[in-house]
Amino acid sequence: RDDTIYGLVSGHARSNPDRPAMRDRLRRVTYSELVEAADRLATDLHAKGVQPGERVAVWLPSRIEAAVVMLACSRNGYVCCPSLHRDHTAGEIEELLVRMRASALVAEFGYGADSHRRSIFDRTGEIASLRCVYRLEPLSEADLPGGLFGGVQPPAGTAPAPLRFDPNTIVYLAFTSGTTGVPKGVMHSDNTLLANARVMSDDWDLKQSTVLYSLSPLSHNLGFGALVMTLSTGGEFVVHDLPRAASLVDRLLAVGATFIIGVPTHAIDLLSELRARKLKRLGAVKGFRISGAAVPPVVAAGLLEHGVIPQSGYGMTEAGSHHYTRPDDSPARMIETSGRACDGYEVKIWSTQDRNVELPVGEVGEIGGRGASLMLGYFDDQEATESSFNQHGWFMTGDLGRLDADGYVQITGRKKDVIIRGGHNIYPARIESPAMRHEAVDRAAVIPVPDERLGERACLAVVFRDGREVSPEALLVHLDEQGLSRFDMPEFFLRLDHLPLTPNGKVLKRELVEAVRRGEL
Ligand code: ATP
Ligand code: MG
Repeated sequence: RDDTIYGLVSGHARSNPDRPAMRDRLRRVTYSELVEAADRLATDLHAKGVQPGERVAVWLPSRIEAAVVMLACSRNGYVCCPSLHRDHTAGEIEELLVRMRASALVAEFGYGADSHRRSIFDRTGEIASLRCVYRLEPLSEADLPGGLFGGVQPPAGTAPAPLRFDPNTIVYLAFTSGTTGVPKGVMHSDNTLLANARVMSDDWDLKQSTVLYSLSPLSHNLGFGALVMTLSTGGEFVVHDLPRAASLVDRLLAVGATFIIGVPTHAIDLLSELRARKLKRLGAVKGFRISGAAVPPVVAAGLLEHGVIPQSGYGMTEAGSHHYTRPDDSPARMIETSGRACDGYEVKIWSTQDRNVELPVGEVGEIGGRGASLMLGYFDDQEATESSFNQHGWFMTGDLGRLDADGYVQITGRKKDVIIRGGHNIYPARIESPAMRHEAVDRAAVIPVPDERLGERACLAVVFRDGREVSPEALLVHLDEQGLSRFDMPEFFLRLDHLPLTPNGKVLKRELVEAVRRGEL
């Protein structure tokens, strides 16, 4: 069967059993080893009474077992939920498990932000829905590939679970990054996940020889999407939690990576290393998909200089990839835009005054999309699902942008982040992008400051590079030289040592706004 993820991957295991499928920090497994472990886990979950549609939560660092759970879920029709990340505390995990009514949990002992104080394994007894818990020990050098769920052996004589054949049922529950509020649970099926995987792999000609290195963990939708895409096309997927000081370049070269996926922060770190080591090229790496937050033009340009084609992408948990640049796009478009809509996905810009009115080319409005990769809906929240579509059935992203005549999109920020100064809309990205072109500026974020008469005024928060600093006056001169209009100029400045970020590297503007309100900054 080639219409489920499990069907495709087990097909690769039959035709190419010894092909490498995946690597983590210490191990490398073949397609047949991966599928064998998935079959064993699927049978065990079935024997323990887990029913199709029930949630299987994963709280693991980036290790092969997360992919085994994903495959077992696609095989049996369970819902894989890997959005539990390293920075969560055991208490937060407990809340999430209750919220999703998880039936099973696969977690690593000693993982999580407060693991020195509390362990999730002490709490699982209190979660009513939870029927089976798999406790994995931290990875060690002694772990063999065959050790994937080594202890999991369904009782002798247990019949394998029946294969599921409907690719439209939910198999993946992902929580959004929580940049604008409480993370939302997003439901996907094999069909929606594979639609996303197919366009990405076709447009970038990714095939079995691809070695895709994901810098985003599998707890982030970007990393999980990369996993599905790579395994469904028969390539090798590499994921690995790097210690902060480790060389990324060395690791990419050691595994023979041909493609990278990550967020802008990863690209910034990679460029710094390439520059510090005066490296002109990056081995066999052909492309770098950067998504999740705005890609600063300087970063895309820097990658091109090193022979790496940037795939600036715009997407979200609800829709997967939406827009991205392709290898045949002009360098100017690779640097200045977030690309054009993926095949099979349509995008239109809608008025912010009336979301049912379409705007013409060139005008800024809310981005709306529709296509096969769109979510089934929000988990347990029919109301939020319904209100996320306009009357014409388009999914409203909450992001603002404009399209040019050829369909390339420029994102100007989130609807919630727009600053309205006396009736004039100031889009943060209009200030942030040119500010980041200043050589002393490392990161920039624009937030509103309340004003009695005008409503709001813009404040530019900057983090300077390596101990450098420039005055607000000099920044204003720079912004003027970059062509920023007088009406969009920031009126307040904040110098920060770092910006508050989500675990996925997005600026938490609501925290900055709060801190300003409390007078802390
Ligand atoms: P939440 O929905 O919980 O507030 P989130 O929207 O950050 O969190 P994700 O689904 O992980 O959660 O992220 C998708 C969002 O990331 C997009 O809606 C958009 O705001 C932002 N984003 C993604 N790619 C880009 C890009 N290339 N440029 C600008 N913003 C981007
Ligand atoms: Mg969102």
